[in-house]
Amino acid sequence: MYDIIIIGGGPAGLSAAVYAARACLDTLLLEKQPMGGGQILNTAEVDNYLGFFDTNGFELGQKFTEHAQHLGVKPLMEEVVRIDCIGAVKKVVTEKQEYETKNIIYAAGAGHRKLGVPGEEEFAGKGVSYCATCDGAFFRGKTVAVIGGGDVALEDALFLANVCRKVFLIHRRDTFRGAKTLVERVNAVENIETVVDTVAKEISGEDTVKGLVCMDVKTGGQKSLAVDGVFIAVGMVPHTQLLEGQVKLDQNGYVIAGEDCKASVDGVFAVGDVRTKKVRQIVTAVSDGAVAVAGI
Ligand code: NAP
Repeated sequence: MYDIIIIGGGPAGLSAAVYAARACLDTLLLEKQPMGGGQILNTAEVDNYLGFFDTNGFELGQKFTEHAQHLGVKPLMEEVVRIDCIGAVKKVVTEKQEYETKNIIYAAGAGHRKLGVPGEEEFAGKGVSYCATCDGAFFRGKTVAVIGGGDVALEDALFLANVCRKVFLIHRRDTFRGAKTLVERVNAVENIETVVDTVAKEISGEDTVKGLVCMDVKTGGQKSLAVDGVFIAVGMVPHTQLLEGQVKLDQNGYVIAGEDCKASVDGVFAVGDVRTKKVRQIVTAVSDGAVAVAGI
């Protein structure tokens, strides 16, 4: 019987592991990926995490993991397939074993939201990508489109502009949701063309992507852009399916929990991007991990 099982080895889960280790709580950290760090592993540039002004997500993720390991945390690489969290003794079932624990810190993060247009599924991995830092190099010297208006879309456009001949940044409104500094940087780059008030209607091609059909939302007019790749960056969907029917989720699937990270069931804490909150950043994920352990 563990004191805590932490599910997920991103910044929130690793921070919880550090605090749990320092509190001498009997803790198990389960992570399905071979490498800890979660979503930040694919972030090209991180310049807003205090103390690290010149780093990338991979490096920071490794540092977080090393820190937890230095304090004796041994993450187990097992995917959780079922959770029973209602009673005092909670069960966490992986594809290999069943574990019992008094508390669960749920830090499973979020995945990429799909755009839901024709061609998206057909050309996934054949020109359609959700990760510019992973796949950008395949588009060296080519023309690509990035879809979205948040921090990720802006960062992806900047990253791809260094690799590609031309980048169209397509956003459905006329103002970007992402940080002003990123917008300014995007506007200053010659080979990025912003296409606002515009939605993607269809991704077309043969064996691989060849074009993107777009529609101006104000005029209804359609046009086709000749592109070799489409990078979709339209936000995230929380990985909370394992908690469905057990803890309260909001209409978008986030675990309803306040700043104390306590979910609607005793002994269950939601930390990082799975929790209802206004600011989803590394710093707030790390903070959640500490707060959750303090509440045990
Ligand atoms: P986000 O901030 O939720 O932005 C998603 C963008 O996609 C929005 O511009 C949204 O448009 C657009 N969108 C959503 N659904 C769409 C659809 N069906 N068709 C077309 N456009 C659609 O998501 P994110 O950029 O993935 O960022 C996630 C979180 O991580 C945010 O809190 C962000 O601040 C944080 N983050 C921070 C950093 C950093 O600080 N360096 C880096 C990366 C991510 P609308 O604007 O019209 O809603």
